[in-house]
Amino acid sequence: MTGERTHTVNPEDIKKEILSKYPPKVARKRGKQITPVSSDDKEGLQVGANVRTVPGIITQRGCCYAGCKGVIMGPTRDIINLTHGPIGCGFYSWLTRRNQTRPPSDDADNYMTYCFSTDMKDEDIVFGGEKKLKAAIQEAYDIFKPKAISIFSTCPVGLIGDDVHAVAREMKEKLGINIFGFSCEGYKGVSQSAGHHIANNAIFKHVVGLNDTVMDAKFKINLLGEYNIGGDGFIIDELLHKCGIDLVSTFSGNSTVDQFANCHTADLNAVMCHRSINYVADMLETKYGIPWIKISFTGPTSTASSLRKIAAYFEDQELIDRVEEVIAEEMIPVEAKIKDVKKRCEGKTAMMFVGGSRAHHYQELFKEIGMKVLSAGYEFAHRDDYEGRHVIPDIKVDADSRNIEELTIEKDENLYSPRKTPEQMQALEEKGYPFKEYEGLLPEMTKGSLIVDDISHHETETLIAMYKPDIFCAGIKEKYAVQKHGIPMKQLHSYDTGGPYAVFKGAINFFEEIDRMLNANIWQYLEAPWQKDPELSATFVGE
Ligand code: SF4
Repeated sequence: MTGERTHTVNPEDIKKEILSKYPPKVARKRGKQITPVSSDDKEGLQVGANVRTVPGIITQRGCCYAGCKGVIMGPTRDIINLTHGPIGCGFYSWLTRRNQTRPPSDDADNYMTYCFSTDMKDEDIVFGGEKKLKAAIQEAYDIFKPKAISIFSTCPVGLIGDDVHAVAREMKEKLGINIFGFSCEGYKGVSQSAGHHIANNAIFKHVVGLNDTVMDAKFKINLLGEYNIGGDGFIIDELLHKCGIDLVSTFSGNSTVDQFANCHTADLNAVMCHRSINYVADMLETKYGIPWIKISFTGPTSTASSLRKIAAYFEDQELIDRVEEVIAEEMIPVEAKIKDVKKRCEGKTAMMFVGGSRAHHYQELFKEIGMKVLSAGYEFAHRDDYEGRHVIPDIKVDADSRNIEELTIEKDENLYSPRKTPEQMQALEEKGYPFKEYEGLLPEMTKGSLIVDDISHHETETLIAMYKPDIFCAGIKEKYAVQKHGIPMKQLHSYDTGGPYAVFKGAINFFEEIDRMLNANIWQYLEAPWQKDPELSATFVGE
């Protein structure tokens, strides 16, 4: 890429430039999802989100099946995840998300390396696929004898009327293991987000609460919305363990079906990715009385404050002191790394368009090394992920999302047990303790930046041309198009085979990686020498 990086572009001008290339109807629609942050006062700023994608615009988005099977259920190693559909859906989601797992022994169940599919053919579309689905469940059971099998509906399943839930019930009775289905056809909702909600509902209905054994541990929590990409979950577990905090379950990195069944015995829910799992957090509170807090283990400052929040909840001085010791110890190498990397990265700029939480969480890592985020947005977040949960009552559910079931949850007569008395909760809240609170991405965005929801390819190119960022973060579909502009591109879904990036140790990995990418020699060689210096000329030997 050529040209000076000035970073003084007005975000309103960028928005105008983007919209000027669209037909009026598209411009009107996209205009609502592009929000310039023109001043430090962000009062009243709204970000249009969770609406249907404009056809033909080249979106980053995936489907409901991807959100359900790929994101939430994929990381659980001992459930056979059976895709009911033609082969494409299962094949393209086979081991492409880097959610790692670590079975306790070599012979423990681990089906994550497999791709199970009913591989529907024309005759299954014409005559229905239920018979084939039953046979596939039977076959999977005969070969693997799993504890649980889950069935994921793909686009044609809903259209031809296969009843995966009836099949699940019948086969559950026949085989005596837990079998349940998800109506997560790809066309439901407008993005992966509908799939998250459907997965949350089904896991809550069919698995949560089945095992009441209480873990013998003093400080027991669930970690919700952490998917162990590149081993993030492993180092989070390690850190919590060092502090004396035990995990009953993680939704759903490195998880097992038994952990979900038992998760209602924890005393606190710590929510990482708000978008994908807030439904389970709310349902666990209503049914069992477990409060939830938003935390983030991305970035040293957020990690430290999240650990402090967890410790403050338990109100145990020994835990509070231990957490402080761990933070002090872990911060030493992080601070040294920041000091070193900052020398080469300070003043540079980044932009990021990722999923439903990382475009927020990763801003801290860039800020720590003196970098500025010029533009950010999500693929499939909702307004509360941008503007904060206080806007939830104002969100209108449109026709595209109305068919996603909202479960009505009630207190469990036997198992509901408030973890704290109302007085204790109130006392904590009065001290500023943030139960059920999430402020979203907006507070992170500084004057002059631009928020773009469900970004398109044209918008990506315009942002690059006008803002001239030093690094761009998104996913595999954007990676090579961006790099051809001469801009380093960091994948924040797969971590480009790298990671882990969570907590203190992961932050060090991330800083090293960004330093390496920004300062690699390759970016100097994008123009041939005679393009930079037209005086240079070459001749053919023998001329
Ligand atoms: S959109 Fe439909 S066909 Fe495509 S991956 Fe999703 S479920 Fe499969």
